Amino acid sequence: MKTKIAFFDAKEYDIASFQNANAGEEFDIKFFETKLSEDTVNLANGYDAVCVFVNDDVNAAVIDALAEGGVKLIALRCAGYNNVDIEHAYGKIHVVRVPAYSPYAVAEHAMALLLTSIRRIHKAFIRTRDHNFSLNGLTGFDLHGKTVGVVGTGKIGRIFIDICKGFGMNVLAYDKFPAKDSGLNYVSLDEIWEKADIISFHCPLTDETKHMVGRDSIAKMKKGVVLVNTSRGALIDSEALLEGIKDRKVGAACLDVYEEESDVFFHDFSGHIIEDDTLARLISMPNVIVTSHQAFLTQEALSNIADTTLNNIRQFVKEGHSDNELCYKCEKFGKCPQEHKKNCF
Ligand code: NAD
Repeated sequence: MKTKIAFFDAKEYDIASFQNANAGEEFDIKFFETKLSEDTVNLANGYDAVCVFVNDDVNAAVIDALAEGGVKLIALRCAGYNNVDIEHAYGKIHVVRVPAYSPYAVAEHAMALLLTSIRRIHKAFIRTRDHNFSLNGLTGFDLHGKTVGVVGTGKIGRIFIDICKGFGMNVLAYDKFPAKDSGLNYVSLDEIWEKADIISFHCPLTDETKHMVGRDSIAKMKKGVVLVNTSRGALIDSEALLEGIKDRKVGAACLDVYEEESDVFFHDFSGHIIEDDTLARLISMPNVIVTSHQAFLTQEALSNIADTTLNNIRQFVKEGHSDNELCYKCEKFGKCPQEHKKNCF
């Protein structure tokens, strides 16, 4: 019997990469366009596993309904898992993820956004298409010699730091768990806020990091600071950011993620009225660039995501555990039978 997978929030590029990874038809995959939520969870009844992405809502009620419907595995096809109640899932249903698929994709996108913003490439592109070759208003600044603050020095943050060093920037780093022997210049968050010309976020969204950029932290930042967020939207309080931009305190914001993105990102709303006034206002600012959670979207990353996700499911089905299992006990206490190649429960 083939393992049956209900695949939620399926986009054209997901279907292509997963069909390619499943070319031998080892798995029976049903692609659903809709996101997983309390309203759609019944679609998963009778499947062995669900495959979900960043904006599927895997809350406690959804987890209970999945378990009741016979689903044994939640396979995240992403690294971040703030949208899954892993504490509630413990003991009920196993959760696996793709811990890394291409940290280069995200780090390179962060630098692409930064360069686009500070060299006004987004403005220049529109002007020259309209045969407007004026340079007025396009003055940027050199990255060389500037100080970048990097919050979160895991896989993506470290690659972003290497890219910044290539530009001759001074790097200040902050991480709750600093990497030993990394040679990085770790400082406090306050020092990042006070000294950095550019701040890039590469830490997970947790209760602790939610709204780490808010009115208080923006008040401490340098005038003209450029904020780059390719991590999770809710690291930044969007209303406070908007105020910071209107006060001319924040010089620019490069956002691949937005705290209320789940109902908007990944969909085509051209020709429609956007209900979210904060997002609409941010997008209308000349110094804000928004991409729609696309930092991961490279051929290499999509192929790695599909391979690792199917491998996680294969290992779980054949060996009864997965090396990439997520459980709140591992996260909270750092100890887990996983080390001994067993399930977390
Ligand atoms: P990682 O686990 O390798 O690194 C995360 C780092 O954050 C770790 O060093 C960890 O110690 C640190 N950290 C944890 N809590 C912290 C805190 N309170 N303050 C500061 N640092 C803290 O993860 P990664 O692969 O580098 O990914 C980083 C983030 O990027 C993910 O959490 C995810 O949300 C985001 N991401 C976004 C995209 C995208 O397409 N935009 C794609 C992949 C990942």
